[in-house]
Formats: sequence, C-alpha cells, structure tokens
Amino acid sequence: MSAKVGRIAQLVEELAPRKLAEDWDRVGLQVGDPREEVTGVLVALELTEEVLDEAVEQSAEMVVVHHPLIFKGLSALRYDSNPGYLVQKMAAHGFHLYVAHTNLDAAVGGTGDLLAKKLALEETEVLVESHRQRFYKLVVFLPQGHEDEIRDSLARAGAGWIGNYSHCTFQAPGTGTFKPLPGTDPFVGKVGQVEKVSEYRLETIVPEDRLKAAVKAMKEAHPYEEVAYDVYPLAEPEKLVGSGRVGRLKEETTLRDFIARLQEVLGVKHLRYVGDLNRPVRKVGVLPGSGGDFVARAASRGADVYVTGDVKYHQARLAEDLGLAVVDPGHYATETPVIEVLAHHLQTRLREEGSEARVYISRKLKDPFQFL
Ligand SMILES: [Zn+2]
Repeated sequence: MSAKVGRIAQLVEELAPRKLAEDWDRVGLQVGDPREEVTGVLVALELTEEVLDEAVEQSAEMVVVHHPLIFKGLSALRYDSNPGYLVQKMAAHGFHLYVAHTNLDAAVGGTGDLLAKKLALEETEVLVESHRQRFYKLVVFLPQGHEDEIRDSLARAGAGWIGNYSHCTFQAPGTGTFKPLPGTDPFVGKVGQVEKVSEYRLETIVPEDRLKAAVKAMKEAHPYEEVAYDVYPLAEPEKLVGSGRVGRLKEETTLRDFIARLQEVLGVKHLRYVGDLNRPVRKVGVLPGSGGDFVARAASRGADVYVTGDVKYHQARLAEDLGLAVVDPGHYATETPVIEVLAHHLQTRLREEGSEARVYISRKLKDPFQFL
C-alpha cells in the first residue's frame, strides 16, 4: 500500500513541527502535490542531481530533504540553472520534494539534540532561542475503565511528556452526572434520567504545537458522545525553542580528547579547531550546520568549546579573543546524522499505519569538501 504525499508530510511534522521553523526559512512541500500517492521516500541532506537519480533508481517518488531547494523568491524558472533544472527533472518524473530545515534543527530529537546526545551532554539547554513554546493543561472527564486507553492515545499524540518521561498524567476519581435528552444515544444511562457515573478526572500537560492533535486523539479514544474536557493556558512552564544546544560533559576532559571523541561519533578524520589542545573542556556548545555567527553566544553561555560548521576566519579570531575553543568538523558532518533519525521515524510511522511505502537513506550524497 502506498502513502499520500500529504500524509508523509504530516509524519515528518510529527518529528519537526512546522511552527518551529524560523520566519526566514522555507519549509514544507516545495515541489509536488499532497494528494498524490507514493510507494517510496528517499531522505537526504539536500537535493542534487545525484540524489534525484538515486530516487529514480529506487522508485522513490518523494524526496525529503533538510536544506530547502527553493529558498529565495523565484522570478523565473529556468531549466538551465539551479534550482530550475532540478524542479524540471522532478516534475518530469512526477516526483515530490519536502523540506524540514530549521524546524528539524529546533525539534526535540532533531539536529541539535542529536549532536548533544552523541556527545553525551547533560543538562542541555537551547543555545540560540527563536521563540518560546507555551504549554496547556488538558483535563478530561472519563468513565472508569477507559483511563489507560485515553492516556495512551494522549501520549501518542504528544501530551504528557516531561523530560524523558512519557504518559505523565494525574488522575482522581469522582462522580460525573448527566441527563441524556431526547434524541441522544448515551454510552451509559437512559434518555430523560439523571445518571451518576464513577469517572476519573485525568489531567496532563500538552505543548502548544501538539494541542490540536492531543484533543483529537483524546476525543477519538473517548467512549462518550459529548466529551467533557477543559484546556487551560499555563503561565509556567515555558520552554525555549531554538537551534543549537549547550550542555555539560559528565567529566572534564581536554580539548584533545574531546576532539577525538567527536571524530569518533561523527566518523570524521579531519577537522579544523581553534584553541590549546591541553585546555580543559567541560561545558560544550553545539550548533550543527552553519553556526559561525554564534561564537559570541556560545562564549556568553559559558561554553569551553563550541562545535559547529562553516566557521570563518574572523569568527575563529573572535573565539580566540573570547577564550573559546572551536571545533569545525564541517556543515555536512554535523548535520548528516539527523537524516537517519528522520528516515527511521518515517519508516516506523508508515509501518504502524499499515503502509508498505519504503523509506531509503541517500547513499550517493557525500560531503563536497575533501582533504589532501
Ligand atoms: Zn545545513
């Protein structure tokens, strides 16, 4: 069974909600039609001619990428230059292109979190804030015996997640009353009689971007025709959302050992660095991709070392002035691990939905930089 392009887009957005994208960014479906069906999806860092050929070979009619193909407003669509010729080639095959960029960077479990996790950083916080995420309290009244099913569907929809704990709820017993009026089809009780039912008040916390999905999932799992529930906006907690992370290593190490660990987790032989290899390192800032602009931010957050790509000469000099070590394994190496996470998420969710659409990870795309 194939899957709709629009559904695959929704599944990507479960991991990387579009709301998390920066205002200047261009994310979402860039080429294609959400109503069409595909049998294969190829996931890659970006779309190149090679990647497109790979999609054709795999019969993957949809390509999901991290870097936008169309970024600036187009005033012409020329087939003799980028991105026009790639759009033309995609259209010729009836292919679709979907982009998850800064929303994937900022997402829980996205690009930034992943690098922090690979380095085993603890007490991680957002390095560059783009906005604040609000939370809501969702309270639902349900007949006893249905609490586990409703709790499960809420958790699957993203409600009740606190740190590394899922299914966080509070439930208290009580008595619900209602009188079914003529024309109703009550789950319990009789039309015209006041009914008293043993119910639970189940409450949980939901981030703003999961609220709609959580309410929908809760209503679908709820046995009542008319569901009694409340949604309260919360003043606290409020979560910073953005790209990059800053956190601590479990134990202090030297810049030399830290770099060796980084090379191992990213699988890179060569990288550039700024700083004394013997200096102690404990607090680490990471910003996968292009993060040279945030050298001062990493230093102001107390980082001893900052890992990012595309660092320029004067940014390296600034780091030196600020006493911040910088390690630049490259844009590609710092971002590419997220491709596997994205592909795994998509394949798992498609299988759960009973779809046989296959998800492939690009094997052709390589770092354009080589070393001599
Ligand atoms: Zn990037």
